[in-house]
Amino acid sequence: MADIIQLLPDHVANQIAAGEVVQRPASVVKELLENAIDAGASAIKLIIKDAGKTLIQVIDDGKGMSVTDARLSFERHATSKIRTADDLFQLHTKGFRGEALASIAAIAHVELKTKQEQDDVGTSIVIEGSDVVSQDVVVTPKGTSISVKNLFFNIPARRNFLKSNTVELRHVIDEFHRVSLAHPNISFALYNNGSESFNLPVSNYRQRIVNIFGNKTNEKLVPVEEDTEVLKISGFVGKPEFAKKTRGEQYFFVNNRFIKSAYLNHAIASAFDGLLKSGTHPSYFLNLEVDPQTIDINIHPTKTEIKFDDEHTLYALLRSAVKHSLGQFNIAPVLDFERDPNLDTPYDYKGGETKVPKVEVDRSFNPFQDETKPKTVSSTTYKKEPIASWENLYVGLESKGTKTHQDFSEVHFESEESTPSIFDDEKQIEQVNTTYQLHNKYIVSTIKSGMLVLDQHRAHQRILYEELLKNMTVKEAISQQLLFPLQLHFSTQEITIVKQLKDDLENTGFVFSNFNDESLEITGVPVSVPESEVSIILEQLISDVENEVPDSNFSATDLLAKSMAKSLAIKTGQSLQKDEQEHLVNKLFACKEPNISPTNRSTFITLSVDELDKKFL
Ligand code: ADP
Ligand code: MG
Repeated sequence: MADIIQLLPDHVANQIAAGEVVQRPASVVKELLENAIDAGASAIKLIIKDAGKTLIQVIDDGKGMSVTDARLSFERHATSKIRTADDLFQLHTKGFRGEALASIAAIAHVELKTKQEQDDVGTSIVIEGSDVVSQDVVVTPKGTSISVKNLFFNIPARRNFLKSNTVELRHVIDEFHRVSLAHPNISFALYNNGSESFNLPVSNYRQRIVNIFGNKTNEKLVPVEEDTEVLKISGFVGKPEFAKKTRGEQYFFVNNRFIKSAYLNHAIASAFDGLLKSGTHPSYFLNLEVDPQTIDINIHPTKTEIKFDDEHTLYALLRSAVKHSLGQFNIAPVLDFERDPNLDTPYDYKGGETKVPKVEVDRSFNPFQDETKPKTVSSTTYKKEPIASWENLYVGLESKGTKTHQDFSEVHFESEESTPSIFDDEKQIEQVNTTYQLHNKYIVSTIKSGMLVLDQHRAHQRILYEELLKNMTVKEAISQQLLFPLQLHFSTQEITIVKQLKDDLENTGFVFSNFNDESLEITGVPVSVPESEVSIILEQLISDVENEVPDSNFSATDLLAKSMAKSLAIKTGQSLQKDEQEHLVNKLFACKEPNISPTNRSTFITLSVDELDKKFL
């Protein structure tokens, strides 16, 4: 039989390898920036067009390449950075596989211009899909400029797979942040579609963070320093009160290389134990320096994961270093090492007598009494919350709906009395008067055919979502004027997001008086929104926008309604009074789509008597 195994031609092999190295424009940005750093550059410029889909160019003032090296740099496994397998354990550079340029050249139009300091002229090479189109002598400054155009021009499937420019740009900027944070001793600039987005001069680490994330960041940073034999830690953590709902500003660098590590992230989170509001994440910018021999970076093509020889020690050191800083800067009330045990007992109890806890029995309680009695007994155990605050959520929202009812003709909302589909056949729902709250999470109610179990958080989200959408479409939300304008601080990137949603936010009742690069001022908020919640709502919104992968039917209005509904909805764990429970059930079934939450999860389930009967068979 004839031999059937063949070696793949180089350009095919390169395209396959490219798939691993280059997933999106941001991957190219990462590789080119890292090459510039490895070349010893002191100033690096990144220029992109259309989020990198049309152009990614990196210009550095590093050591450049000779004519031969310039040509060789595009060969696979051509690298100047390691020579033997042993070198792999002594890595001091970012690159080492010698794959990036070959991969990029296989799937794009690449133009390289490079010159070494001692040479009078430099080399220019143009490569398209691994084919060398030209090689010339050029006049060019010392250093290297590589431009990558029309990424994935020869792999349409990959090109179509790219996300919107907004999403791809975010990835590019993320990459730019990671690299520039790791190297404050190098100046970086980013030009996007012809305008300057970042200009970061050489500075210290703190200044670099501030230059990227905005002036207000400065006061949020708490320094962390720790120097041990196995590990050197330096950098900053964010004060707990500035913790965010997004995980955005979390950066670990190991030997100046950005890495992701859920394990080390956990170490930091545990150092913040008890200091954070639930659902928020601390910011951190931490550099770990370890002996290159104790880590293995070669386990992932995009090289953001890393293996440590002794993870447990790292974990413990990191945790205690962060704890120490939080304590030293008076952020954590008590440090748990060197802790004075006397402080643990509240003064009142010291020296006091111990008492046996008393059990109180309600002797008049009769479990066999008719239904109404035990019900009132149980309802007194609900936490009393002023009904007003609950009803507040609907003020404005509700009145709008009814007042402007006729205006809805062009809008596709059904009237409030619309009958939910599952109850179409028979008018099954009885007057809701027997509700019961289970685990502060579910509302149980009876219906003709059996019972109904409703998820309070999801149900309320659905109700608020429809109300909010209605308001935004009709543009007549009522807002309440704040006594003092509310000044909120965000990063430049976050402000841009809020700006994009400004119109919709105003339609819900927000009034903005001032926008600048790092802060915004609010003078009015929707009636349904307590002032104390405003920053949480906006943070949640920013986080939702950032995590959204906008597709063709992406709607900012919808996203805003979903996000606000999520923030404002009653949470799991909140106990509700009887009338609140009933109100919730009634409101839900007045919704257009009561069955699902805005994020397509079931809001309730039903259990028929038949089904119950079966369970008792
Ligand atoms: P690696 O970085 O893993 O060595 P690359 O494909 O990224 O592989 O680059 C191949 C080689 O090209 C590098 O080893 C380096 O010698 C050279 N090179 C790439 N970019 C630059 C640059 N900006 N300046 C100088 N030399 C460069
Ligand atoms: Mg490289």
